[in-house]
Amino acid sequence: MIAFETALQKVLDHSQDHGTEMVGLAEALGRVLAETIVADRDFPPFDRATKDGIAIKFNSNIDSNTSFEIMGIAQAGSPQLSLENESACIEVMTGAMVPKNADTVVMYEHTVKKNELFYISKPIKKGQNIHYKSSDTALGDALLKIGTTVTAAEIGVLATVGKSKVLVKKLPSVAVIATGNELVDIDKEPLPHQIRKSNTYTLKALLQKESITAEMYHLKDEPAVLKTRLGELLERYDVLLLSGGVSKGKFDFLPTTFDDLGVQKVFHRVLQRPGKPFWFGKHEALKTMIFSFPGNPVSTYANYHIYFKSWLNKILGVAAPQITVFLKEAFENKTDLVLFLGVKINLENGKIEATRISTTGSGDLLGLSKASGFVKVNPGEILEAGSLVSFIPTKRMV
Ligand code: AMP
Ligand code: MG
Repeated sequence: MIAFETALQKVLDHSQDHGTEMVGLAEALGRVLAETIVADRDFPPFDRATKDGIAIKFNSNIDSNTSFEIMGIAQAGSPQLSLENESACIEVMTGAMVPKNADTVVMYEHTVKKNELFYISKPIKKGQNIHYKSSDTALGDALLKIGTTVTAAEIGVLATVGKSKVLVKKLPSVAVIATGNELVDIDKEPLPHQIRKSNTYTLKALLQKESITAEMYHLKDEPAVLKTRLGELLERYDVLLLSGGVSKGKFDFLPTTFDDLGVQKVFHRVLQRPGKPFWFGKHEALKTMIFSFPGNPVSTYANYHIYFKSWLNKILGVAAPQITVFLKEAFENKTDLVLFLGVKINLENGKIEATRISTTGSGDLLGLSKASGFVKVNPGEILEAGSLVSFIPTKRMV
């Protein structure tokens, strides 16, 4: 049995690089950039009108009696026009190039049109309503760093600089494996001594959020079957995520099976709750990582976030924020284990407050579905109401 911090550190020490791959822009959503994105031109690429109106050459004598003859119309998407007569104007549309010799745009709402002449009805400032060339970014500027997770906003930036294909970090291939003779498929009617498997579906869904398409397996608690099937899966995948079969029961065969298959155990059992019987190892020759979680649904769920998600962030080079929240009610950890308490969070007067949710224990995934995450409480720690505690989100916070 090892301390929680040691266990987490050992998991992170086993990070490995899975390389990079090119994907189409739409597929880049949720992925992590493996190249710096550089501006391929100035942005805006030209002095751009930001209002529909008229473009003029500014001078301080302009007042409401000054008339402007109309010399043309500049449309967005048309080449630049030129204001040949500086006491005239050109009508400009939002997104159009400001005409040559013009330096100020007056929106239609601040003009009056009489007898095909424009008059300006409000005081103006030189340079108004122009988004100047390269005022956002200049050609060659670094816009997005390696390690950035691509959200819809980054998709927009990538599109702006013409990246129809983008280099991203490759994701590991993952098998999600349920163990247990009591488990049946979700489309079956379980007999009285059976339950439907849920962990594989939960894990697959969690991985889907990371853009990983995991394949699901179910293995019976039979040493020969486990050895053959796990031997095959070790060769086929970068990561095996297992649930069940690592506790002290008579049919918990996984630790000995891993041993038989030449998997190097890094640790087994951590001073934590839930998730204490966690087994972690690596097949050195095949470079396969094995995260073998206890089968209780809450244990599997917590350990996925605590260990696998941290490991994934590390291998992808994603800097995950360290989140702290205020504990609503006092809590005392009278055990020698690190406790992960399921909590609901509320935003109160700009403060994120965590309230414990009541569950009946490690089997209570239904109770946990109400939680927004876990707070971590160290062994022996006495927390007052309002204490700051470290928080592991399991759901989107807002
Ligand atoms: P184990 O870690 O194999 O001793 O399993 C602990 C508990 O979790 C038992 O009650 C199992 O029936 C349950 N369990 C194991 N695997 C799953 C699964 N895939 N889905 C739902 N419950 C499971
Ligand atoms: Mg079992």
